[in-house]
Amino acid sequence: MKLLGLIGDPVLQSPSPEMHNSAIRALNLDYIYLTFHVKTVDLRKAVEGLRAIGARGFNVTIPHKVRITSLVDSLDSLSRRVGAVNTVVNENGKLKGHNTDISGFIMPLREKLQDMDKKNVTVIGAGGAARACVVALEMEKCENIIVAARDPSKAKRMLASLGNMKTEVLDLREAGVKKVCLESDVIVNATPVGMYPNVSDSPIPADYIRKGVIAYDLIYKPLKTRFLSYAESAGATPVPGHKMLVEQAIASFRIWTGVNPPREVMASTVIQALAGGQK
Ligand code: NAP
Repeated sequence: MKLLGLIGDPVLQSPSPEMHNSAIRALNLDYIYLTFHVKTVDLRKAVEGLRAIGARGFNVTIPHKVRITSLVDSLDSLSRRVGAVNTVVNENGKLKGHNTDISGFIMPLREKLQDMDKKNVTVIGAGGAARACVVALEMEKCENIIVAARDPSKAKRMLASLGNMKTEVLDLREAGVKKVCLESDVIVNATPVGMYPNVSDSPIPADYIRKGVIAYDLIYKPLKTRFLSYAESAGATPVPGHKMLVEQAIASFRIWTGVNPPREVMASTVIQALAGGQK
């Protein structure tokens, strides 16, 4: 049996094992996906341990996505571009880092918006997920990408580290953010604001969301965040975070097994797992 897994801190609440194991069962493959709670101080040893026991591959989550880049033998072009890895594959003892967050983010957006050039997108937040979003949106040739963050200097550093980005930065608390949001075609919440258990919080007020805008929340727990409820009430198009979770998992699964996993099985498993924990 081949070993797959997830390393991070914390990992206990992750729906990834259920999602991947449901696809493994559906395809009758000889794999198992487990979670490993790995503290930063133990990251190098954990990676070497997984290599030594011949694990086929693993996902990497908070807080290790950046540090892992220096612990693998090679990086694919996307993970090198974004400076973060969420998927590692073991090819005969050589570890290669990939980033499936980028395609995972963009796939659900493409379902709603075929043509992304000439579009205005506001990304709220400046952490790891925002990084992947900005790179993905730039690759899609979005006309205007605006990052609204509570710490604009951090957002500027993040963008500088990504190279030659034409992205504008705003302080999330500035009044101008309302106008920018109302002129946006897409608003992405890449902060944890509204995440379980703080489910009554929203990164922006309801009156920043106009009819017709695509409101994409990267948070997947709860399935319907306050931000998405505001979007629904405004006549906007909500895109929930579990869609990205499923798409990034599908891309990782393909890298490890060479097989296309059943999207519907993974999606219904993740919805069930997430709905179970948020009554
Ligand atoms: P992160 O690296 O910790 O970044 C979080 C960002 O949110 C930072 O810019 C932080 O600002 C900002 N922030 C935190 N609290 C805030 C507040 N109260 N008001 C305004 N801004 C605030 O986290 P991440 O990895 O980017 O993850 C962000 C969210 O995306 C999480 O909810 C995560 O679960 C979700 N996510 C989902 C997927 C998926 O597959 N759906 C994938 C990745 C991430 P400071 O820098 O000032 O602290």
